[in-house]
Amino acid sequence: AKATGRNCYEFFTQNLQAEVITTKRIADEILAGLENDEFTAWYQPQFCARTMELTGVEALVRWNHPNQGVLTPDRFLKIADELNVVQMFDRIVLEKALQDKMRWAARGIVVPKVSVNVSSRRLNDETLFETLTTLAIVPGEISFELIESIFLDESDTVVSHNLERIKSLGIDIEIDDFGTGHTSIVSLLKLRPKRLKIDRQLVQPILESQQERALVRSIIEIAHSLDVDTVAEGVETFEHAAMLRELGCDLLQGYAFSKPRSFEDFCTMVQAAEWR
Ligand code: C2E
Ligand code: CA
Ligand code: CA
Repeated sequence: AKATGRNCYEFFTQNLQAEVITTKRIADEILAGLENDEFTAWYQPQFCARTMELTGVEALVRWNHPNQGVLTPDRFLKIADELNVVQMFDRIVLEKALQDKMRWAARGIVVPKVSVNVSSRRLNDETLFETLTTLAIVPGEISFELIESIFLDESDTVVSHNLERIKSLGIDIEIDDFGTGHTSIVSLLKLRPKRLKIDRQLVQPILESQQERALVRSIIEIAHSLDVDTVAEGVETFEHAAMLRELGCDLLQGYAFSKPRSFEDFCTMVQAAEWR
């Protein structure tokens, strides 16, 4: 038994070492990737639940890895956060999204709104505001998705000061992943976001569970009573879409309509209007 124990221990440390080495390698690759412009934005469409018109897109970071193809954030976001470079992705994605907005316009593709994810590091980064004030932003065309923990992390005054600055530039605020973590109605009241994104963990069970359905219905009602629009995330089937419409949800986003796509694939899809 003793020998096994030691083997286990050795196995464990070996694994741990391998993990440390992998993490270090990915960290180096991230830094090189930032130098080499390997990160970009992909787009997932959002639709009006009633008319099914395209209302906008969420821009999501992707890594064009030199030998592993296109990587999703689950492969690198955590390490990037430890490296303190997540705010770089937010900056890159916003930049690409603004460029792509112009390229859509040039191709006659109407994308009314682009939402980008903003980390707390980025929100507290003074260069964000330097960038924003140089942009000509049409009110309502750009939206920042913030997860609720941001509002809990920092002192109320810093956060609300930054949020007010963002709003005053014509950028909408959305609460992301609503229904996970420390969701509270109080933060809704305080923040007065434009939109609230109902997390897919709440959205997905609505067909099977009457209770979960009632919960989503209540969230939508509360949001509406505060004049806040609702977006359902992780809408994977048309049955979900129909139910969400019935529950009064305003916007829908999910694999039922489209996965996130590269700029070119997104253009092709819109021009072919594949989701109809
Ligand atoms: P999120 O902000 O909640 O983004 C939605 C995620 O759900 C995306 O994953 C999207 O591909 C996925 N998704 C969309 N529809 C469905 C569906 O119907 N079913 C399922 N199961 N999933 C769906 P992705 O692109 O891998 O991004 C993961 C997370 O990484 C994002 O979650 C966000 O928290 C973070 N992230 C992505 N891009 C950025 C960025 O530019 N900056 C920062 N700070 N975070 C980002
Ligand atoms: Ca988001
Ligand atoms: Ca989300």
